[in-house]
Amino acid sequence: MEYEGRYRMAAAKYDCLLFDLDDTLYPYSSGIAAACGQNIKDYMVEKLGIERSKIEDLGNLLYKNYGTTMAGLRAIGYDFDYDDYHSFVHGRLPYENLKPDPVLRSLLLSLPLRKIIFTNADKVHAVKVLSRLGLEDCFEGIICFETLNPTHKNNVSDDEDDIAFVESAASTTTSANGPEIFDIIGHFAQPNPSLVALPKTPIVCKPSELAIEKALKIASINPQRTLFFEDSVRNIQAGKRVGLDTVLVSLCEDVPKILCHIACSY
Ligand SMILES: [Mg+2]
Repeated sequence: MEYEGRYRMAAAKYDCLLFDLDDTLYPYSSGIAAACGQNIKDYMVEKLGIERSKIEDLGNLLYKNYGTTMAGLRAIGYDFDYDDYHSFVHGRLPYENLKPDPVLRSLLLSLPLRKIIFTNADKVHAVKVLSRLGLEDCFEGIICFETLNPTHKNNVSDDEDDIAFVESAASTTTSANGPEIFDIIGHFAQPNPSLVALPKTPIVCKPSELAIEKALKIASINPQRTLFFEDSVRNIQAGKRVGLDTVLVSLCEDVPKILCHIACSY
C-alpha cells in the first residue's frame, strides 16, 4: 500500500510520536465516545439546567466553534467546576469495553522514539484508558486538560480578558446563578452571524493552534521531527498548520498497522 512505503521511508525523519488518545489508540466501536457524548448532554441538563430540547443544537454549535463542548459552555457564560464536569462525564463510561492491546504495546515499546499522549481529556480519564489498554508504561508523558489549563480550579472568572462578551442582535438569557448566557443558537439563526464575533473561551484545547503550540513547547517537541496521530480531521488540520506531520487514524489505517511499518525501519 502507498502508506507503507511512505511511513517506512519517513521513520528516520522522526524522533517523536505524538498520539491523541480517545478513538485513536482504541476503536470508536468501544462505545466510549457515544457514552461520553450522552454524559455531556446529561450534564448540561442536570447540572446546568439547560432545556433538553436545546441540547442537540447547542452541543453541536459549541463543539464546532470551540473544540469541546466544555470550552463552549464556558465561553457562552456557564460557570462550573471543571473537576466536577470531568468526573460526571467520564465517571460512568464503560471502561470495561477497553481491552489490553498487546500488539500495540509491543510495537510502541519496540520503537526507539519519544512517545507522548496529547488529549483534551483530563488526567484521570487518560490514565484509566491507558491502564485498560495495557499501555500505561509506553509513553514518556501525558499532555492533558490540566497541562494546558493549569489554573483550572477557578470557579468564577476574575480575569476581565477571560471571557470577552460581544454585543450582538442575539438575545442573552440569565441562568439560575445570575450570569448572562450568550444565546449561540440565536446568534447563528441571524442572517449574517459572521458579522458578530463569538465570545472567547478561557479553556485551551485542540483544535486551537495555541493549544498545540503550547503542548509542543511544554514537552519540548520539535514539530519538524514529530509525527502526530489523530482521529479528528480538524485536529489534523490544526496540527499541519503548526508544522507537524500527521496521520489521520481511521479504520483503514489504524495505529498498530502504521507503527508496524515504522518499526520495520529500525
Ligand atoms: Mg480522538
